[in-house]
Amino acid sequence: MLSTEQILETMSGQGLRITDQRKTLANLFGENEGYLSAKDVYEHMGRKYSGLSFDTVYRNLRVMEELGVLEQVVFEDGVKFKGSCNQDHHHHHMICLQCQKTYPINFCPMNLTDAPDQFRVVKHKFEVFGYCKDCEENRDEETVAVAHSKEGQ
Ligand SMILES: [Zn+2]
Ligand SMILES: [Zn+2]
Ligand SMILES: [Zn+2]
Repeated sequence: MLSTEQILETMSGQGLRITDQRKTLANLFGENEGYLSAKDVYEHMGRKYSGLSFDTVYRNLRVMEELGVLEQVVFEDGVKFKGSCNQDHHHHHMICLQCQKTYPINFCPMNLTDAPDQFRVVKHKFEVFGYCKDCEENRDEETVAVAHSKEGQ
């Protein structure tokens, strides 16, 4: 994952003015390994900057995502952001549903997709969700039992 310094370097390298707010955002994502919703970020920022609007926070998240310093994933409860992986080439993610630890994968299914000729692809998403080894081991046995009984129905 990108460090706070790497995030700031990329932002200023792309001509973005480094305001105190953007420094705080870079720091938040440089130190937080999990995914944060725009609301989480807004609440964090609101503690430091009173009167900050949600729109401003959201706009900054969008800009950071466009610059490639943040990656966004759509979870069942909405869009969330985290600092980009330390990889500058195209990649996808395997994401643990419990701890949200992310494993970059270099496989891209786009090459295997039978997209029709008359369709111009501009972007695509491919994410794999599951449980990492640690979380799998710590998962509540009861949850596993419930899942099994459902499978048997
Ligand atoms: Zn990544
Ligand atoms: Zn996990
Ligand atoms: Zn791809």
